[in-house]
Amino acid sequence: MDTALLSRRRLLGRGLAGTALAAMTALGIDLRPAQARAWALRIAEAKQYASVCPYCAVGCDTLIYVKDGAIVDIEGDPNSPINQGTLCPKGAAIYQLHVNPNRMTQVLYRKPGATSWEVIGLDEAMDMVADRVKKTRDETFQETYETTDANGKPVQKVLMSTTAIFSLGGATIDNEWNHLQQKLLRGLGIVPIENQARI
Ligand code: SF4
Repeated sequence: MDTALLSRRRLLGRGLAGTALAAMTALGIDLRPAQARAWALRIAEAKQYASVCPYCAVGCDTLIYVKDGAIVDIEGDPNSPINQGTLCPKGAAIYQLHVNPNRMTQVLYRKPGATSWEVIGLDEAMDMVADRVKKTRDETFQETYETTDANGKPVQKVLMSTTAIFSLGGATIDNEWNHLQQKLLRGLGIVPIENQARI
């Protein structure tokens, strides 16, 4: 294959699997037939749903396989004009977003000065966040700021903003949520809004 034709995502997507297979092949073990059989068994009789990787703005298409109400596999969609069946290493791990015993399912809170975390309710956590946002905004919101004009004369300009709050979204926040989040934050006068998926 002409590697010059490989896109970055295709190269990344094949890189890890290729390395593992090359290592096993060097030992005289060809895992490909076994891998293919295991995968075919896993998705046998599973329902297939089209979706999109939530991690970044590339928006690679995925196929989600569901059996007995549970996700059994997620793969890149080979019919996608965007990713043509491939996923980068991050996207290839989307399955673990849903199926992962280490995934946090409760809100953990560590009080200031405390050395351990405690489980708190989601409603309580949301109230705490709302209280802190309101308090910080009330204390730091600036309607105007002082500057000078071209002649050095002091002037007052409209600001209507707080620089004390910054929002950093996670890569798994989808477009719709990001849209609502930036509307809410801009309505509060918060300008620094960023998302982890782009940095
Ligand atoms: S993170 Fe997801 S959408 Fe972004 S390149 Fe990787 S697989 Fe595609």
